[in-house]
Amino acid sequence: MTWLNKARHLDAPKERVQKKYSNSWRFRIAPDTVGPKDILILPGSFSNIEGDVQGMPFWQTLKHYFYDPQKKKFRSFMCGKAFNKECYACHRQYDKDDKRLQIRKANLWPVVHLDWHYRVENEYGDAPYFVQAENRAQEREFDDLETHTKVFGRPGFMELGKGHQEMLLDILSNVVSQCVGCLEHDFDNNGKIEVCAWSCSSCGAVLEDIETTSLNRDEWRKFGQSRKTCASCRNKDFPKEVVGCTQCPTAIRTEIYDVVIPLVKQGSGKDTSINLGFGMMPKYIDEYDVYDLNGNKVPLLDRMEGNVRIYDKTLQEQVINYLPDLKSLLEVEAEREFQEDIILN
Ligand SMILES: [Zn+2]
Ligand SMILES: [Zn+2]
Ligand SMILES: [Zn+2]
Repeated sequence: MTWLNKARHLDAPKERVQKKYSNSWRFRIAPDTVGPKDILILPGSFSNIEGDVQGMPFWQTLKHYFYDPQKKKFRSFMCGKAFNKECYACHRQYDKDDKRLQIRKANLWPVVHLDWHYRVENEYGDAPYFVQAENRAQEREFDDLETHTKVFGRPGFMELGKGHQEMLLDILSNVVSQCVGCLEHDFDNNGKIEVCAWSCSSCGAVLEDIETTSLNRDEWRKFGQSRKTCASCRNKDFPKEVVGCTQCPTAIRTEIYDVVIPLVKQGSGKDTSINLGFGMMPKYIDEYDVYDLNGNKVPLLDRMEGNVRIYDKTLQEQVINYLPDLKSLLEVEAEREFQEDIILN
Protein backbone atom coordinates (compact mmCIF):
# COMPACT_ATOMS: atom_id res chain seq x y z
CA MET A 1 0.00 0.00 0.00
CA THR A 2 1.45 3.35 -1.00
CA TRP A 3 1.22 6.40 1.24
CA LEU A 4 -1.53 7.74 -0.99
CA ASN A 5 -3.72 4.68 -0.40
CA LYS A 6 -3.01 4.92 3.29
CA ALA A 7 -3.91 8.59 3.30
CA ARG A 8 -7.20 7.91 1.53
CA HIS A 9 -7.92 5.06 3.95
CA LEU A 10 -7.61 7.46 6.89
CA ASP A 11 -10.58 9.48 5.75
CA ALA A 12 -12.69 6.66 4.32
CA PRO A 13 -15.99 6.15 6.12
CA LYS A 14 -15.87 3.10 8.40
CA GLU A 15 -17.89 0.48 6.62
CA ARG A 16 -18.93 -3.03 7.45
CA VAL A 17 -17.38 -5.68 5.22
CA GLN A 18 -20.64 -7.58 5.28
CA LYS A 19 -23.64 -5.63 4.09
CA LYS A 20 -26.05 -7.66 6.16
CA TYR A 21 -24.55 -7.94 9.61
CA SER A 22 -25.83 -10.05 12.49
CA ASN A 23 -25.10 -8.97 16.03
CA SER A 24 -26.47 -12.18 17.50
CA TRP A 25 -23.12 -13.75 18.45
CA ARG A 26 -22.54 -10.86 20.84
CA PHE A 27 -25.57 -11.92 22.85
CA ARG A 28 -24.89 -15.64 22.99
CA ILE A 29 -24.28 -16.89 26.50
CA ALA A 30 -22.94 -20.42 26.67
CA PRO A 31 -21.96 -22.55 29.66
CA ASP A 32 -18.26 -23.39 29.27
CA THR A 33 -15.71 -25.77 30.75
CA VAL A 34 -13.68 -23.02 32.46
CA GLY A 35 -16.03 -22.78 35.44
CA PRO A 36 -19.67 -22.35 36.42
CA LYS A 37 -21.57 -19.32 35.18
CA ASP A 38 -24.37 -17.96 37.33
CA ILE A 39 -27.40 -17.90 35.04
CA LEU A 40 -30.67 -16.12 35.76
CA ILE A 41 -33.46 -17.10 33.37
CA LEU A 42 -35.60 -14.10 32.39
CA PRO A 43 -39.36 -14.52 32.18
CA GLY A 44 -40.40 -15.04 28.58
CA SER A 45 -43.39 -16.39 26.74
CA PHE A 46 -42.82 -18.06 23.38
CA SER A 47 -44.56 -20.56 21.18
CA ASN A 48 -43.06 -23.62 19.52
CA ILE A 49 -42.29 -23.87 15.79
CA GLU A 50 -45.71 -25.21 14.88
CA GLY A 51 -47.32 -22.51 17.04
CA ASP A 52 -49.59 -24.95 18.87
CA VAL A 53 -47.87 -24.78 22.29
CA GLN A 54 -47.85 -21.35 23.93
CA GLY A 55 -46.28 -19.74 26.96
CA MET A 56 -42.89 -21.46 26.88
CA PRO A 57 -39.92 -19.74 28.60
CA PHE A 58 -37.69 -20.46 25.58
CA TRP A 59 -38.04 -19.83 21.86
CA GLN A 60 -37.88 -23.06 19.93
CA THR A 61 -36.84 -22.27 16.40
CA LEU A 62 -35.00 -23.63 13.35
CA LYS A 63 -31.37 -22.99 12.55
CA HIS A 64 -29.11 -23.95 9.69
CA TYR A 65 -25.64 -25.25 10.38
CA PHE A 66 -23.18 -24.66 7.56
CA TYR A 67 -19.87 -26.47 7.49
CA ASP A 68 -17.42 -26.34 4.62
CA PRO A 69 -14.52 -28.70 5.45
CA GLN A 70 -12.35 -27.37 2.61
CA LYS A 71 -12.60 -23.77 3.73
CA LYS A 72 -12.78 -24.88 7.37
CA LYS A 73 -15.75 -22.57 7.63
CA PHE A 74 -18.49 -23.13 10.17
CA ARG A 75 -21.49 -20.87 10.61
CA SER A 76 -24.94 -21.22 12.09
CA PHE A 77 -27.84 -18.94 11.31
CA MET A 78 -31.61 -18.75 11.38
CA CYS A 79 -33.86 -20.58 8.94
CA GLY A 80 -36.25 -18.30 7.07
CA LYS A 81 -39.17 -20.51 8.09
CA ALA A 82 -38.79 -19.20 11.64
CA PHE A 83 -39.96 -15.85 10.24
CA ASN A 84 -42.41 -17.26 7.69
CA LYS A 85 -40.06 -16.23 4.91
CA GLU A 86 -38.79 -18.14 1.93
CA CYS A 87 -35.45 -19.59 2.98
CA TYR A 88 -32.45 -19.50 0.64
CA ALA A 89 -30.54 -22.02 2.79
CA CYS A 90 -33.46 -24.46 2.63
CA HIS A 91 -33.45 -24.05 -1.15
CA ARG A 92 -29.72 -24.85 -1.26
CA GLN A 93 -30.08 -27.75 1.14
CA TYR A 94 -33.16 -29.44 -0.31
CA ASP A 95 -33.36 -28.36 -3.97
CA LYS A 96 -29.63 -28.14 -4.71
CA ASP A 97 -28.63 -30.94 -2.32
CA ASP A 98 -25.88 -28.81 -0.76
CA LYS A 99 -24.37 -31.26 1.72
CA ARG A 100 -22.65 -28.52 3.69
CA LEU A 101 -25.97 -27.47 5.17
CA GLN A 102 -28.01 -29.05 7.94
CA ILE A 103 -31.09 -27.89 9.76
CA ARG A 104 -31.84 -28.45 13.45
CA LYS A 105 -34.18 -27.24 16.16
CA ALA A 106 -32.59 -24.78 18.57
CA ASN A 107 -33.96 -23.60 21.90
CA LEU A 108 -33.20 -20.00 22.80
CA TRP A 109 -33.50 -18.96 26.45
CA PRO A 110 -33.33 -15.28 27.43
CA VAL A 111 -30.92 -15.11 30.37
CA VAL A 112 -28.54 -12.92 32.33
CA HIS A 113 -25.01 -14.09 33.13
CA LEU A 114 -24.34 -12.67 36.59
CA ASP A 115 -20.70 -11.62 36.78
CA TRP A 116 -18.62 -8.50 36.13
CA HIS A 117 -18.74 -7.32 32.52
CA TYR A 118 -18.23 -4.16 30.52
CA ARG A 119 -21.03 -2.68 28.48
CA VAL A 120 -19.62 -1.34 25.22
CA GLU A 121 -21.03 1.45 23.12
CA ASN A 122 -18.85 1.45 20.01
CA GLU A 123 -18.14 3.96 17.26
CA TYR A 124 -20.25 2.14 14.64
CA GLY A 125 -23.46 2.97 16.45
CA ASP A 126 -24.11 -0.75 17.06
CA ALA A 127 -26.55 -1.68 19.77
CA PRO A 128 -24.58 -1.73 23.05
CA TYR A 129 -23.14 -5.15 23.89
CA PHE A 130 -21.24 -6.73 26.76
CA VAL A 131 -17.74 -8.16 27.08
CA GLN A 132 -15.68 -9.63 29.87
CA ALA A 133 -12.05 -8.70 30.53
CA GLU A 134 -9.66 -11.59 29.89
CA ASN A 135 -7.20 -10.55 32.58
CA ARG A 136 -6.20 -7.76 34.95
CA ALA A 137 -4.30 -5.81 32.30
CA GLN A 138 -7.33 -5.75 30.03
CA GLU A 139 -9.52 -4.83 32.99
CA ARG A 140 -7.39 -1.73 33.61
CA GLU A 141 -7.50 -0.92 29.89
CA PHE A 142 -11.33 -1.22 29.83
CA ASP A 143 -11.64 0.84 33.03
CA ASP A 144 -9.97 3.76 31.23
CA LEU A 145 -12.13 3.59 28.09
CA GLU A 146 -15.05 5.96 27.80
CA THR A 147 -16.87 3.46 25.59
CA HIS A 148 -16.83 0.85 28.39
CA THR A 149 -19.06 0.87 31.48
CA LYS A 150 -18.37 -1.68 34.23
CA VAL A 151 -21.58 -3.49 35.16
CA PHE A 152 -22.54 -6.66 37.02
CA GLY A 153 -24.34 -8.88 34.52
CA ARG A 154 -24.69 -9.50 30.82
CA PRO A 155 -28.00 -10.07 29.04
CA GLY A 156 -28.28 -12.55 26.19
CA PHE A 157 -29.59 -15.92 25.21
CA MET A 158 -28.53 -19.50 25.76
CA GLU A 159 -28.90 -21.58 22.63
CA LEU A 160 -29.40 -25.26 23.34
CA GLY A 161 -29.71 -28.19 20.97
CA LYS A 162 -31.80 -31.25 21.79
CA GLY A 163 -29.31 -32.96 24.13
CA HIS A 164 -28.35 -29.93 26.20
CA GLN A 165 -31.96 -28.81 26.32
CA GLU A 166 -32.96 -32.10 27.96
CA MET A 167 -30.14 -31.72 30.48
CA LEU A 168 -31.30 -28.22 31.38
CA LEU A 169 -34.91 -29.42 31.69
CA ASP A 170 -33.70 -32.13 34.12
CA ILE A 171 -31.97 -29.51 36.25
CA LEU A 172 -35.05 -27.26 36.13
CA SER A 173 -37.44 -30.07 37.00
CA ASN A 174 -35.46 -30.53 40.21
CA VAL A 175 -35.74 -26.81 40.90
CA VAL A 176 -39.50 -26.77 40.43
CA SER A 177 -40.00 -29.82 42.64
CA GLN A 178 -39.09 -27.63 45.65
CA CYS A 179 -41.76 -25.82 47.66
CA VAL A 180 -41.25 -22.10 48.34
CA GLY A 181 -44.37 -21.98 50.50
CA CYS A 182 -42.31 -23.71 53.23
CA LEU A 183 -40.23 -20.54 53.70
CA GLU A 184 -43.31 -18.85 55.22
CA HIS A 185 -43.40 -21.48 57.96
CA ASP A 186 -39.76 -21.26 59.16
CA PHE A 187 -38.72 -24.65 57.87
CA ASP A 188 -34.96 -25.09 57.44
CA ASN A 189 -35.33 -26.60 54.00
CA ASN A 190 -37.85 -26.78 51.21
CA GLY A 191 -40.45 -29.53 51.10
CA LYS A 192 -41.10 -31.51 47.94
CA ILE A 193 -43.97 -30.56 45.68
CA GLU A 194 -46.28 -33.40 44.77
CA VAL A 195 -49.04 -33.39 42.18
CA CYS A 196 -52.25 -34.41 44.01
CA ALA A 197 -54.57 -34.08 41.04
CA TRP A 198 -54.85 -33.08 37.39
CA SER A 199 -57.67 -30.75 36.47
CA CYS A 200 -59.19 -29.22 33.33
CA SER A 201 -57.54 -25.90 32.41
CA SER A 202 -60.87 -24.54 31.25
CA CYS A 203 -63.60 -25.56 33.73
CA GLY A 204 -61.45 -26.87 36.59
CA ALA A 205 -63.07 -30.32 36.71
CA VAL A 206 -60.78 -32.98 38.20
CA LEU A 207 -59.49 -35.31 35.48
CA GLU A 208 -57.43 -37.56 37.72
CA ASP A 209 -57.10 -37.63 41.51
CA ILE A 210 -54.17 -39.35 43.23
CA GLU A 211 -56.54 -41.00 45.74
CA THR A 212 -58.68 -42.66 43.08
CA THR A 213 -56.49 -42.93 39.98
CA SER A 214 -55.79 -46.19 38.22
CA LEU A 215 -52.77 -44.72 36.45
CA ASN A 216 -49.41 -46.20 37.37
CA ARG A 217 -46.57 -44.04 38.65
CA ASP A 218 -45.08 -43.31 35.22
CA GLU A 219 -48.44 -42.62 33.56
CA TRP A 220 -49.27 -40.25 36.43
CA ARG A 221 -46.01 -38.39 36.03
CA LYS A 222 -46.48 -38.00 32.26
CA PHE A 223 -50.20 -37.18 32.43
CA GLY A 224 -49.57 -33.45 32.08
CA GLN A 225 -47.35 -33.85 29.00
CA SER A 226 -50.14 -34.34 26.47
CA ARG A 227 -53.54 -32.85 25.76
CA LYS A 228 -56.57 -34.48 27.36
CA THR A 229 -60.24 -34.02 26.59
CA CYS A 230 -62.35 -32.94 29.55
CA ALA A 231 -65.43 -35.10 30.09
CA SER A 232 -67.38 -32.15 31.52
CA CYS A 233 -66.73 -29.33 29.04
CA ARG A 234 -65.09 -31.20 26.08
CA ASN A 235 -62.14 -28.76 26.17
CA LYS A 236 -58.93 -30.39 24.90
CA ASP A 237 -55.78 -28.98 26.47
CA PHE A 238 -52.81 -29.75 28.70
CA PRO A 239 -54.19 -30.60 32.16
CA LYS A 240 -53.50 -28.23 35.04
CA GLU A 241 -51.78 -29.64 38.10
CA VAL A 242 -53.07 -29.34 41.65
CA VAL A 243 -50.10 -29.47 44.00
CA GLY A 244 -49.39 -30.28 47.62
CA CYS A 245 -46.24 -30.09 49.75
CA THR A 246 -44.69 -32.92 51.77
CA GLN A 247 -44.03 -30.47 54.59
CA CYS A 248 -46.30 -27.41 54.69
CA PRO A 249 -49.99 -26.62 54.08
CA THR A 250 -49.33 -23.78 51.59
CA ALA A 251 -47.68 -25.57 48.68
CA ILE A 252 -46.14 -23.22 46.10
CA ARG A 253 -43.92 -24.53 43.35
CA THR A 254 -40.56 -22.84 42.92
CA GLU A 255 -40.52 -21.27 39.47
CA ILE A 256 -37.48 -21.37 37.25
CA TYR A 257 -37.27 -17.57 37.59
CA ASP A 258 -36.87 -17.86 41.37
CA VAL A 259 -33.32 -19.18 41.20
CA VAL A 260 -29.84 -18.43 39.89
CA ILE A 261 -28.34 -21.57 38.39
CA PRO A 262 -24.56 -22.19 38.38
CA LEU A 263 -24.16 -23.87 34.97
CA VAL A 264 -21.04 -25.52 33.65
CA LYS A 265 -20.22 -27.47 30.50
CA GLN A 266 -18.38 -30.76 30.80
CA GLY A 267 -16.64 -32.96 28.27
CA SER A 268 -15.26 -32.05 24.88
CA GLY A 269 -15.98 -32.38 21.18
CA LYS A 270 -19.41 -33.79 20.45
CA ASP A 271 -19.70 -35.51 23.81
CA THR A 272 -20.56 -32.63 26.12
CA SER A 273 -23.10 -32.12 28.87
CA ILE A 274 -24.32 -29.18 30.88
CA ASN A 275 -24.55 -29.52 34.62
CA LEU A 276 -24.67 -27.67 37.89
CA GLY A 277 -21.16 -26.68 39.00
CA PHE A 278 -19.63 -29.43 41.14
CA GLY A 279 -21.16 -29.42 44.62
CA MET A 280 -23.25 -26.34 43.76
CA MET A 281 -26.99 -25.79 44.04
CA PRO A 282 -29.36 -23.26 42.49
CA LYS A 283 -29.67 -20.24 44.77
CA TYR A 284 -32.94 -18.41 45.45
CA ILE A 285 -32.99 -14.89 44.00
CA ASP A 286 -33.95 -13.37 47.35
CA GLU A 287 -30.70 -14.77 48.79
CA TYR A 288 -28.51 -13.66 45.90
CA ASP A 289 -26.51 -10.42 45.77
CA VAL A 290 -25.56 -8.37 42.75
CA TYR A 291 -23.55 -5.12 42.59
CA ASP A 292 -24.44 -1.54 41.77
CA LEU A 293 -22.25 0.75 39.65
CA ASN A 294 -20.16 1.70 42.69
CA GLY A 295 -19.41 -1.92 43.50
CA ASN A 296 -21.76 -2.10 46.49
CA LYS A 297 -23.64 -5.32 47.17
CA VAL A 298 -27.39 -5.16 46.66
CA PRO A 299 -30.03 -7.92 46.69
CA LEU A 300 -30.91 -9.28 43.23
CA LEU A 301 -34.62 -9.32 44.03
CA ASP A 302 -35.94 -5.95 45.10
CA ARG A 303 -39.54 -7.06 45.67
CA MET A 304 -42.47 -8.96 44.22
CA GLU A 305 -45.41 -7.12 42.69
CA GLY A 306 -48.05 -9.78 42.46
CA ASN A 307 -46.37 -12.45 40.36
CA VAL A 308 -43.84 -10.08 38.83
CA ARG A 309 -40.28 -10.14 40.12
CA ILE A 310 -38.86 -6.63 40.43
CA TYR A 311 -35.08 -6.91 40.18
CA ASP A 312 -32.50 -4.54 41.60
CA LYS A 313 -32.78 -1.18 39.80
CA THR A 314 -29.17 -1.13 38.58
CA LEU A 315 -29.41 -4.67 37.23
CA GLN A 316 -32.64 -3.81 35.47
CA GLU A 317 -31.53 -0.47 34.02
CA GLN A 318 -27.86 -1.16 33.26
CA VAL A 319 -28.13 -4.78 32.15
CA ILE A 320 -31.53 -6.36 31.55
CA ASN A 321 -32.91 -3.38 29.63
CA TYR A 322 -30.12 -3.90 27.09
CA LEU A 323 -31.37 -7.35 26.09
CA PRO A 324 -32.50 -6.95 22.49
CA ASP A 325 -35.74 -8.50 21.33
CA LEU A 326 -34.62 -11.99 20.24
CA LYS A 327 -36.66 -12.08 17.08
CA SER A 328 -35.51 -8.69 15.79
CA LEU A 329 -31.93 -9.54 16.75
CA LEU A 330 -31.94 -12.69 14.64
CA GLU A 331 -34.22 -11.77 11.76
CA VAL A 332 -31.40 -10.49 9.54
CA GLU A 333 -29.98 -14.05 9.42
CA ALA A 334 -33.09 -15.25 7.62
CA GLU A 335 -32.52 -12.84 4.73
CA ARG A 336 -31.29 -14.14 1.41
CA GLU A 337 -28.45 -11.64 1.15
CA PHE A 338 -27.07 -12.65 4.54
CA GLN A 339 -27.31 -16.37 3.79
CA GLU A 340 -25.81 -16.04 0.28
CA ASP A 341 -22.80 -14.32 1.75
CA ILE A 342 -22.13 -17.31 4.02
CA ILE A 343 -22.96 -20.06 1.55
CA LEU A 344 -21.51 -18.69 -1.70
CA ASN A 345 -18.45 -16.71 -0.55
ZN1 LIG B 1 -34.22 -22.75 6.03
ZN1 LIG C 1 -44.04 -26.41 51.47
ZN1 LIG D 1 -63.43 -28.91 31.52
